[in-house]
Parts: sequence; C-alpha cells; structure tokens
Amino acid sequence: MILLKTKEEIELIRDAGRLLGKTLAEVGRHIRPGVTTAFLDQIGEQFIRDNGAKPLCKGFEGFPSAFCISVNDVVVHGIPGDLFIKEGDNVSLDCVIDLNGYVADSAYTFTVGETSSEMQRLLKVTREALFIGLDKCKAGNRVGDIGHAVQMHCEKNGYSVVRELCGHGVGFKMHESPNVPNYGVPGTGPLLKEGMVIAVEPMVCMGSKNVKFSREDGWTCRTRDGKPAAHFEHTVAITANGPDILTTFDFIENK
Ligand code: MG
Ligand code: MG
Repeated sequence: MILLKTKEEIELIRDAGRLLGKTLAEVGRHIRPGVTTAFLDQIGEQFIRDNGAKPLCKGFEGFPSAFCISVNDVVVHGIPGDLFIKEGDNVSLDCVIDLNGYVADSAYTFTVGETSSEMQRLLKVTREALFIGLDKCKAGNRVGDIGHAVQMHCEKNGYSVVRELCGHGVGFKMHESPNVPNYGVPGTGPLLKEGMVIAVEPMVCMGSKNVKFSREDGWTCRTRDGKPAAHFEHTVAITANGPDILTTFDFIENK
C-alpha cells in the first residue's frame, strides 16, 4: 500500500531532509586521502546523533553502520571499514535518518583530489539523470516515466543502470511502496499522486549493468566488470505542479 503524506508531514520530512543534507556535507568535508571509511561513518553518526536524529541504516537487517560508503566499483551498500581513501577515488555516501519520526534518504558521490575526466563525466551524467528523473515526479505521471527518463539519459551517454536495486517510497519508514526502478516504460507502473514521497536514486555504471553482491558480508554491491559506478539520491514529494525536493545538496555544493 502506498502511504500518502499530509502537507504537515511533508514539512517534517523536509526537516529531516535538511539535516541529512548537512550531514552529507559534514562527512564530505572529511573525505580525503588517508582516512578510512569507518572514520567517515563515525563522524557522520556522531553528527546525526548530536542533532537529535537516528541513523536508520544501522541495524537495518543487520547492516552494521550509519552510512553506506561505496568506493569506485562498489555501486551501493559498501560497509564502512578499514579501507583507506586515496587520490582519484569516487566515494558515494548514502544515508537515511529519522528526525522526530520522519525519514529522509539521500546519497551523493564525491571525488577525491584529481580524478579522471571519465570519472567526472560519470558523476555529472548520474547527477543529471537524478534531476531528469525528479522532473517526472508530478501527479498524473507514472513510476515508469521516472525510470524511463533516468535510463534514457544514462544509456544515451554510454552508461548502464543497475536492475537489481531501485528507489522506493519513504517518509514514515526507510522503505515503503512503491519501488522506483531506474529503468522502465513510459505510462506504466503505479500512478504518482499528490502526497506521495519517494526516493529517486540512479545507480549508474560506467560499463555493464551487471553487479554482484559480496559473499562475505551479503551487502557490498560491485560492478562485475570492475568499472566505477556512481549514485545520487533525493527524497521528493509529488505535487500537482511537479517535484518538491525534500533533501538537499546545497550544503555540499554551495560551501
Ligand atoms: Mg539512500
Ligand atoms: Mg534509498
């Protein structure tokens, strides 16, 4: 069942989204060669708790940390640990927080120092795909319109989108209905209605779309061909006039 949110509830999700935007920026400031992903997770978890919120990934189906931190060929669900960040890496931070009972979900892929033009282009196209998908978040459209727009933008740029994982409803819980795939056929899938809140999250591979999940930890999702991937995510409310984006990259990008 798709749970609709009232205007008041959407404002409370926006509060969570704003704090989440600050959190991603705070952790992003610490991304540099020589730090470990566990260190970044610690900084972020402390920031979330200091601001009166809860990190929802931690403990979710046994996931051990507050953030998914996914480096280079890890698409999503990287577990923070003793991996050292190095020059040229791409580092995606994905986090879900609960502030006063309302939930926001957002992800951003950072680069570290000098990165190749190929990597920069992958990040640029993935970020664009997110906003092209968000543009479809209007009452009367369907979920397939979002996925189709994301997929077309990525594929026309020579990239591929992951099939195994997708966006989702969010707001009261971390994962709600409907699923929001990053591929699709226009005019198909659940109808978008005013008051729906969803997470749109392109997971884009530089090479083939095929991924594998770690046998050791059951979480880490890597590209099969070892090529890099990128991930950007916003939580958005559907309105009659279009998307009302409830998370923000402003704290990251307007430093
Ligand atoms: Mg997320
Ligand atoms: Mg999500």
